[in-house]
Amino acid sequence: EAKRKGRNRFEYYNSKLDEHSDRVFSLLQKLRPAILNNKLEVYFQPLIDLHSDTICSMEALVRWPQEDGAMIFPDQFIPVAESSGLINKLGAFVLEEACRFCAHQHSIGNDKLTVAVNLSFSQFRDNSLPGIVESVLKKTGLAANFLELELTESILADEQGNISTQLEQLKKLGVQFAIDDFGTGYSNLNYLRSFNAGKLKIDKIFITTLGIDEKHEMLVSAIINMAKSLDMKVVAEGVEGDAAKTKLIELGCDIGQGYLWSKPIPESQFNELLKVERQANDLHLTFDESPA
Ligand code: C2E
Ligand code: MG
Ligand code: MG
Ligand code: MG
Repeated sequence: EAKRKGRNRFEYYNSKLDEHSDRVFSLLQKLRPAILNNKLEVYFQPLIDLHSDTICSMEALVRWPQEDGAMIFPDQFIPVAESSGLINKLGAFVLEEACRFCAHQHSIGNDKLTVAVNLSFSQFRDNSLPGIVESVLKKTGLAANFLELELTESILADEQGNISTQLEQLKKLGVQFAIDDFGTGYSNLNYLRSFNAGKLKIDKIFITTLGIDEKHEMLVSAIINMAKSLDMKVVAEGVEGDAAKTKLIELGCDIGQGYLWSKPIPESQFNELLKVERQANDLHLTFDESPA
């Protein structure tokens, strides 16, 4: 009986594995043509400067719209792209869209806006990344210091690979860096200090319940203080409510990102968002300047 059960369980896991690899395989078969035929889209999510309450940056987040109106999210297809070698093409596409949109914003007067692009570990595999970044900046005309590359701690921790050489080359181009998903990886504070990124992004698992539940408050406070002592700006991702925002301001966090302000949205909607903000500011200025 036990033996039979054991075998059943084995077959169960086996069929789960098959299901999984079938799904990955069919995703991959659809992803390749989607990338080649420009079917992916880049959405943008605003980052809010908590001191001035204005949009200071935007993060480029890739989306895969389906014919039937459904949307596939990056957590599902980025891993497939990474393991199949498609990530370089995908990454270059996102980078170019992001830089082009940011350069466009500068040309219409939003000339302080920066843009953040996520990088995968596997984009460093063939040493082509610094060259791609350099040519995209040239092609789009975006000044390097307005591009911010988001790295996870695992990328910094790669010692035997050739990642650090490429990071040095990227630094020489003048691009900025942010450490993404901080608190979920294997933090090596020594790498963090010596790498000298401009920003630290606290992972959303610590942020969403902030101000409601005290569980993560000490931790977030400690991360903010540590980042400050390393001269880094702190970004909180996953800010969903006013309670979290209020708490973050109280703790000295610099920048917020989350559904409280906006989900990731297509370019046209982002334009609207900026327009509304500008109008509100103009109104503000008019009031400020009018005689009492
Ligand atoms: P990430 O870089 O940490 O991006 C933030 C994720 O949090 C995004 O998910 C965003 O939609 C989500 N988010 C933002 N605000 C909130 C909030 O208030 N509440 C909640 N619950 N979530 C929020 P998304 O767009 O699904 O992306 C997931 C991950 O996929 C990203 O995490 C990033 O690691 C990866 N990714 C996305 N685009 C790219 C890309 O172009 N290249 C690479 N290599 N990775 C990408
Ligand atoms: Mg990110
Ligand atoms: Mg990330
Ligand atoms: Mg994250």
